[in-house]
This record gives sequence, structure tokens and C-alpha cells, in this order.
Amino acid sequence: MLENLSNCPVCDNTYFSPFLVCEDYTVSQEKFQIVVCEKCNFKFTNPRPDAQNIAQYYHSDNYISHSNTKKGMLAKIYQKVRKISLQSKLKHIQKESGLEKGSILDYGCGTGDFLKICQENNWEIKGIEPEEIARKQAENLLQTSLKENIFETDFENQSFDVITLWHVLEHIHLLDETIQKLVSLLKSNGILLIAVPNCASADAQKWKEHWAAYDVPRHLYHFTPQTLPLLLKKYSIKIDKYMAMPYDSYYISLLSRKNKTGKLNFLNGFFDGFQSNQWAKNNSLNFSSVLYVCRRER
Ligand SMILES: [Zn+2]
Repeated sequence: MLENLSNCPVCDNTYFSPFLVCEDYTVSQEKFQIVVCEKCNFKFTNPRPDAQNIAQYYHSDNYISHSNTKKGMLAKIYQKVRKISLQSKLKHIQKESGLEKGSILDYGCGTGDFLKICQENNWEIKGIEPEEIARKQAENLLQTSLKENIFETDFENQSFDVITLWHVLEHIHLLDETIQKLVSLLKSNGILLIAVPNCASADAQKWKEHWAAYDVPRHLYHFTPQTLPLLLKKYSIKIDKYMAMPYDSYYISLLSRKNKTGKLNFLNGFFDGFQSNQWAKNNSLNFSSVLYVCRRER
């Protein structure tokens, strides 16, 4: 069942314009509309599958962000890049928190690979993952039990030094309630790290409706460095730093070209990813994915 949002998730305004119609290239081949709020410019998928019906749009062998399958060249490259990018994520949390080790909650931890690297570096780890198969894999990898839902946990208020959402915020139906809950779990000097695609990037403008990071209908929201701060401000969270996620550009470029041409071309895809990063190299706000380092307002 589709649900129609009548209010902008960021500013509550009720007037939107059509922005783009995108196809679900990965699973259903259905088309979905992205609208833009006339007041705050926030872009979101509307109408969208409701929370009860979104699961069917994740059911595909092609949707590899949640799986560890080593089949296929693309999956192989993806795994390789993911390994390098996992190391860089650990460095980010250590540098930004100023802690060698501490307590971390990875919201939407998938198969648990990032938490694994944290665990190996003596971080005290917690994870949430709604998708059952991924969660079981993560539990197996981490040898700990994980909750499927943040509202079922008994985590203490203000107990985490770091909370991370790696390409997760754009998937959350209960956006307000979830952010509110996460903020309540963050220590007063804790950091919230949010990585999301940037639909204001030159990369998004180049590929238009074929841009892989629109990823409808799984991506419910399409953030930019202008709109994410507006959303977080409602919870007294400010963005401290904008950082590039250069490894993500290659994967998004490869898939965008595949969406547009119907073919997977590694050489062109690599060039596209390189070009995307070149366009953005002087300004991390222009990267096709951005990591936002956030803190409480004082
Ligand atoms: Zn708005």
C-alpha cells in the first residue's frame, strides 16, 4: 500500500511540486515520484510504500548493501571498496570523538561489518538492524544479540559517545520519533555521524533520474547540505563538519551508468566516479555522498 505525505517531513509545509519521476531499477521496476517542498526545498519520495509494505522492495539479489554475497564482479569490487571504506570510517569516529575507544551505536548496522571493526578496536558496540537476514548475519559475526527496533531497547539515556547512521537516515519511515530517540541516547558531548547521498551534487545533476542514489522507493528522503541542517535543528542538533565520502562515488557512478545504459561498464564507471570526486574535490558539500558530523547545540 502506498502512503501519501501531506506535510513536509522537515518544515511541515503542505505545498510541494513534482521534482523527478524515477524508476526502481533494482527490484520492482515501478516508478515513483520525488517531490520538492516549496518552502524549504526538501526532496522526498511521495507517495511512498508504507512501513508495512516496504520490505518487498528490499527483496532482491541485486540489493547488495545488505548482503555479503561474493557473486559477480560488481559485488567483488563492492566488497573490496567496502573494506577500505570501513577502515576510514573507524578513523573518522576516532578522530571526531577524540576517543581511541568508547561506546558506539550503529543504527541500521546491516550485516555488522562496521561494528566488527569497532569491536576489534575495543569499542563497546550496540547495533540495530530491522532486516532479519542481515541482523542474523551480524549477530553471528559479532557474537552478540541485536535488536530490530530502537524502541524495544533498554539503552540508557545519554549513554553513547558515538551514534552512526551510514546511509540509513534516508530509509526511516518514523523519522521524527527515531531521531528524537537517537538524540536522547547520545551523551552530552557525543557525536552523531550521518552519511547520506547528496542530491545537490554535480553527480546527481549529471545523471538526473538515472542517479543510483535516488534509489526509490527505498530512499524516502533525498537530503542536501542545505536541508539536513534544517531537519536536525528541530532536535537541537547542529552540523559541525561536512566530510567527503569519496569511496561511495564509484559505486553510485557504476550503478547510475548501468541505470542509464542498461549495461555495466567498469572502465566508464570508474572514470565517472573519479570525475564525480574531481568535481567535488574543493568542496565536500559537492560530493555525491556526504558525511555529516553532528553535535548537540550548546
Ligand atoms: Zn519543507
